[in-house]
Amino acid sequence: MSFHLLVPLAAVACLAGFSALAADRKPNVIVILADDLGYGDLGCYGHPTIRTPHLDRMAAEGMRFSDFYSVAEVCTPSRAALLTGRYPVRSGMAHDQFRVLRNRSTGHLPANELTLPEVLQSVGYVTGMVGKWHLGVWSIDPAGHPQRHGFGSYLGLPHSNDMDPTPAAPQGAPGMAVQDPAWWNAPLYRDEELVSQPTDQTQLTRVYTEEAQRFIRAHKRQPFFLYFAHTFPHVPLFASAQFRGTSRRGLYGDAVEELDWSVGQILETLRREGLAKNTFVFFTSDNGPWLTMNQQGGSAGLLREGKGSTWEGGMRVPGIAWWPGRIKAGVVNTNLMCMLDLFPTSLKLAGTALPGDRIVDGMDMSALLLNGAPSPRRSLIYYRGARLSAVRKDQWKLHLFTQKGYGQPQPDVHDPPLLFDLNTDPGESFNVAANHALVVADLLQEIERHRETVVAVESQLVAVQSPPARP
Ligand code: MG
Repeated sequence: MSFHLLVPLAAVACLAGFSALAADRKPNVIVILADDLGYGDLGCYGHPTIRTPHLDRMAAEGMRFSDFYSVAEVCTPSRAALLTGRYPVRSGMAHDQFRVLRNRSTGHLPANELTLPEVLQSVGYVTGMVGKWHLGVWSIDPAGHPQRHGFGSYLGLPHSNDMDPTPAAPQGAPGMAVQDPAWWNAPLYRDEELVSQPTDQTQLTRVYTEEAQRFIRAHKRQPFFLYFAHTFPHVPLFASAQFRGTSRRGLYGDAVEELDWSVGQILETLRREGLAKNTFVFFTSDNGPWLTMNQQGGSAGLLREGKGSTWEGGMRVPGIAWWPGRIKAGVVNTNLMCMLDLFPTSLKLAGTALPGDRIVDGMDMSALLLNGAPSPRRSLIYYRGARLSAVRKDQWKLHLFTQKGYGQPQPDVHDPPLLFDLNTDPGESFNVAANHALVVADLLQEIERHRETVVAVESQLVAVQSPPARP
């Protein structure tokens, strides 16, 4: 009798001990961010001539989002949104003087912003970053360095790869699209130390990838957070000899296919090191494609416009979640999700609470990712810079003003606002406001509710960002 009982009891005790151990092991979190990759630029998002077998496999083994948003139309605010879980207007990183940080900008992510790696560090995570930062220039102000914002280690470029032209570089955008290594003087840093300037950008994706693999191997026994922010396919485009001239899509395709190779390397490293079942990986892009670069810019697929605009093409981007055994394989998720949500979702996976002293706009998507629960997110606010331009709620999108990403100095102000049904009209071609007065009123209310929360914070922001009074 007792023997029969003892065995199952021992087994139960053993299992309980095992699951307690497994539960104690916090999952690793990796965010891979492409720069200016459009909604239509991957095989699994329908591109006909760019081959992305590794990202396609990641999607097949994980969850691919049809309605994932970057929350900003350009690089800097988008990265602030990712790392803080807050609309970038709250941190000031969307404001005109910071909308895109330049190589001589004095501003940076404010020290009082709490970043995802800062929170994860506080609960035992090792944190590292590889790639483009774009939230401060530390040669101007050391307080803008990633290691002052929660990252334990860093290798990468401080900003975009077109921001340090040599005197040989032609002026103006069209010239920027041509690949000539002599025109670019990009600085590569390890931690705060300058490694190379100019940097051989043809090697950049490979150098980043090897660094990310080293980080993963070095910290495989501790929970880690890795933020891998690629330099490409931002213009000027470069690819290594292994990829140059190999894609049917030209140099842009070469750069994307090398980036795809890099993602394959990262996932393969996780598999080889036995970490795949304990690592949440999310792949996305910081904003839509840079359409004015013509053939050197990407594609937003059937979405309207691109980078710099709050039409869908500027902000709806690829979003792929991967965690074998935890996230169901092969799911195309049509729920609304955005860059803001990675902050609370990662904290939830790490078993820690949201900060209670500030507004966090992101929503915890862990139940949606792990259990197929409905999305808690129904709406999204669009800003162009610090100016609120549109709102989406369910399938409806309301524009207060619209503007092309580049080449349109003044916005088109819409009074009455434009309304699009993104289910029937994802390309935003047919204004249906006249037929849906109640929907328009509801979305205007959504905007007002959001504005009330920003007004309160804006005054604090001004106080924080004003230079200290001189004695
Ligand atoms: Mg970008």
